[in-house]
Amino acid sequence: MDSHIIEALKDIVGAERLETALEERQCYSYDGTGQEYVPEAVAFPDTTKQISRIMALASASGFAVVPRGAGSGMSGGSLPVAGGLVLALARMNRILEIDEANQLAVVEPGVITGNLGAALAPLGLFYPPDPASLKFCTLGGNVAEGAGGPSAVKYGVTRDYVLGLEVVLADGRILETGVRTRKGVVGYDLTRLFIGSEGTLAIITKIILRLIARPTASKTLLLLFTDMHQAVALVATLLKEQTPSTLEYLDNTALNLVADKLPFPLPAATRAMLLVELDGDPDSVALQSARLNDFLDSRPEILHRQQAQSPEEVAALWQARRCVSPAAFTLRPHKISEDVVVPRSAIAALVACAEELGHRCRLPIFTFGHAGDGNIHVNIMLDKADQEEVRRGREAQKALFQEVIRLKGSLSGEHGVGLTKAPFLDLELSATSLDIQRQLKKLFDPQNIINPGKIF
Ligand SMILES: Cc1cc2nc3c(=O)[nH]c(=O)nc-3n(C[C@H](O)[C@H](O)[C@H](O)COP(=O)(O)OP(=O)(O)OC[C@H]3O[C@@H](n4cnc5c(N)ncnc54)[C@H](O)[C@@H]3O)c2cc1C
Repeated sequence: MDSHIIEALKDIVGAERLETALEERQCYSYDGTGQEYVPEAVAFPDTTKQISRIMALASASGFAVVPRGAGSGMSGGSLPVAGGLVLALARMNRILEIDEANQLAVVEPGVITGNLGAALAPLGLFYPPDPASLKFCTLGGNVAEGAGGPSAVKYGVTRDYVLGLEVVLADGRILETGVRTRKGVVGYDLTRLFIGSEGTLAIITKIILRLIARPTASKTLLLLFTDMHQAVALVATLLKEQTPSTLEYLDNTALNLVADKLPFPLPAATRAMLLVELDGDPDSVALQSARLNDFLDSRPEILHRQQAQSPEEVAALWQARRCVSPAAFTLRPHKISEDVVVPRSAIAALVACAEELGHRCRLPIFTFGHAGDGNIHVNIMLDKADQEEVRRGREAQKALFQEVIRLKGSLSGEHGVGLTKAPFLDLELSATSLDIQRQLKKLFDPQNIINPGKIF
């Protein structure tokens, strides 16, 4: 990036909001995958207008622009693989409006997901998507990845709550999509096109989110099993009975990683766990709970059932669940972290496949995640310094993806394609689908300057 571009960028955002020093650029060179690509510069814009000017400059000069939220992505989406400019959006972190009457919020993309929830709680409003990273990831990153979380089984994912967007296109034009109403079918649904586009079509600068009434009561319980197949087999049956707000699954390895964070000791025979939460108003929770307990009474395969007795116990359970992913590094220094999704009836087959791959490839492979919607995190642990382990890890990854497609699932439920799944796209997408998608990318970004090297 030559000096006249750097000067032009400083002119747009201010000299103090443009970093070119190596040690600063390195802070924006990695994400949750652990891969590293150092950008040539990092800009911290705080208005849509500045972003519009940056994109106009980028398209005139031909440099790459990579939007970045908190950099917590698990597929390499925010990595500047072609150099260029990282557009760090964390400063655009204002909640612009909370419209109580119409139950919607308008936010900038850098708002931390959990901060929106905290601002809504006193108003009795609720934004359900709850990725485990909610304390540090941004709403812009959530929209770009189509993020989801444990509550998706009842409430759906980010995509289900985005009413409209403001985005900046590759040439600097500003585009507003969608509506502020509950319905709206005028024209193509461009909002949905940008959701999950992984920062490859445009820069998201404003998000209109649908809100709902906040549940006022909940009940959280643990179901423990001596066999992980019994745990996952119960999922589809339980969901026929009722819709919990959460139905999370941890296999034995995942449980052992966080056992010391659980608020109660586990029976020695425990090999798998389901974390079930019910929510609603107090009456409906009491009713749901009675029905659930009736159902569970008839299931002899449950080793032990434990209900959280206090908000502190509930918080400890969730803290333990959220720690599984980071705690995995105690097994091996690196991981291939997949978030495959299969029909619920195929979860048992997927978990069996992961177990078999662990034996075959001689690597620790464990599973946990959102059993309620078939979105299972498969973690292949390895040491990248050991080339033989890397080879076996890749073999396990490919075999896993092939099995997911055979089970009529999808390669990613929430983390996106980014860099890491790009080589496997044709397992899931037909040549026609890939062709149409490449044409869309060309339409929005003819010079390939927005987040180049991702998805395709
Ligand atoms: C411990 C841990 C737990 C996680 N748990 C979950 C989980 O439960 N569910 C889940 O879905 N994900 C989870 N993730 C993954 C990650 O947090 C999500 O993908 C999240 O949405 C990324 O947000 P971010 O702000 O960090 O985005 P980044 O990582 O900075 O970027 C992600 C992608 O979005 C693009 N992007 C970011 N902002 C914009 C913007 N304003 N305009 C256009 N494109 C943009 C980037 O270019 C990139 O392609 C987890 C990650 C970690 C580390």
